[in-house]
Amino acid sequence: MKIAVLAVQGAFAEHEKMLSDLGEESIEIRKKSDLEQDFDGLILPGGESTVMGKLIRELGIFDCLREKIENGMPTLGTCAGLILMAKNIAGGESPHLATLPVTVKRNAYGRQIGSFTATEHVSGIGEMPLTFIRAPYVESVEKGVDVIATAGGKIVGVKYKNQIGVAFHPEVTKNTAFHEYFLKMCAACLPSDTEQLSSNLPSL
Ligand code: GLN
Repeated sequence: MKIAVLAVQGAFAEHEKMLSDLGEESIEIRKKSDLEQDFDGLILPGGESTVMGKLIRELGIFDCLREKIENGMPTLGTCAGLILMAKNIAGGESPHLATLPVTVKRNAYGRQIGSFTATEHVSGIGEMPLTFIRAPYVESVEKGVDVIATAGGKIVGVKYKNQIGVAFHPEVTKNTAFHEYFLKMCAACLPSDTEQLSSNLPSL
């Protein structure tokens, strides 16, 4: 499979490294034409959501990214990536792609405990180490959104249709379980052999 990683700012290289450790190919999305390639999944990394939000608008890739997600592209957003996907940002800040029907609170743990790790149970995976860096949490979810992880009583992982959003950074640990989980979701969305075959046949 080929996984596209938004690479305009933030921790994209860490995701690429993890994908390559798992034997998967990644491509970087830095400009509009990068989105013309075929790919099977999309990762929106951690970083600074305000900066990434501004850059994807300026680079002219905002609409295409949103369309791909809304049309079913399996998408993983980590930390700032989750904020980019959220429909609402607490405090009245304008949302970005707004494809994921949740409300997130940015920098939700304050400056003092901005970064920490915890071992929690993640649905579909089991116990795994979670690393938080100036993380948001999910304040509320709308109908249809599954909570897949909580930490300290707060929602830190959600799944909605083709979208997974997490407040933690699975790419900065050595634990590959979360990426494997996402890759399984990408594989499940691949067109079946029969569909691929019929789309390659000339129309008679
Ligand atoms: N605090 C950042 C933001 O609000 C997110 C931090 C991160 O991605 N590690 O965008």
